[in-house]
Amino acid sequence: MVQDFDSGYPAPYATLAAAYPGADVFPATDFRVEWGPIFHRGRLDGSARLLVIGQDPAQHEAIARRILIGTAGHRFQGFMAKLGITQSYVMINTYLYSVYGQTGGNKHAHDAAIATYRNQWLDAIAAHSPIEAVVALGSLADTAYQTWHATASGSAYTGAYQHILHPTYPDSAAASSGTPQATLMAQMLANWNTGLDALHPAIAHPDVPTPLVHYGTDLAPGDLADIPAGDLPAGCPAWMRSAEPWATRTGATAADKRATITVTIPADERPF
Ligand code: URA
Repeated sequence: MVQDFDSGYPAPYATLAAAYPGADVFPATDFRVEWGPIFHRGRLDGSARLLVIGQDPAQHEAIARRILIGTAGHRFQGFMAKLGITQSYVMINTYLYSVYGQTGGNKHAHDAAIATYRNQWLDAIAAHSPIEAVVALGSLADTAYQTWHATASGSAYTGAYQHILHPTYPDSAAASSGTPQATLMAQMLANWNTGLDALHPAIAHPDVPTPLVHYGTDLAPGDLADIPAGDLPAGCPAWMRSAEPWATRTGATAADKRATITVTIPADERPF
């Protein structure tokens, strides 16, 4: 059996992966630093044409060591497929570590040391890849992009840019506001259609030239796309790329829950 895998961090990213900021920059009160930094997903070989800025890694990402592989990742992989981008992308998150608590994300949106490190990644990607478009997922990612674009090196990027609603906005906003998830999903997909309208003509070199097909008011099964095997480190089993959730934070106390991720292979992915 031959399986694609992500071989890791070539120069100049290896230096960034080695010298990552810890709890002095990402306070442990607001970030799950104990699960380690999770840097990216996608192409670091100079072939990326779409740069994606996400928010922060969650439990699936903590196990697979690549970002945006859970629900948000599958939804956004489908967005990229509508642009004809199936391989030529690279993603980083606003935050290297998972946010802990309700307020941590907003509280650190303008931290200079967090931005300095993140900007080094953005500078390296922009310098080594023919980026045609940048997409920010959610408002924290938009702030990250604007912070970078206000720097001397970031301002050199003159390609397309779109800020779209975060892929799990319908779920998080439904939980916090009580608005039905279906209403918020329709709102997100209308917002994504606007993003597609702007980005589709900006992608001059899609992997698979694809006529633009808008979303409806709900996600159809074909609107999700698989995470490619080549996006995960060597040896990751295929079920780690499943659209079904397989990792949950569990524990009777807040401390136990913070320290525990329970991994369960989806029933239909078991060879037994
Ligand atoms: N997982 C990530 O890595 N980033 C997000 O923005 C959401 C989930």
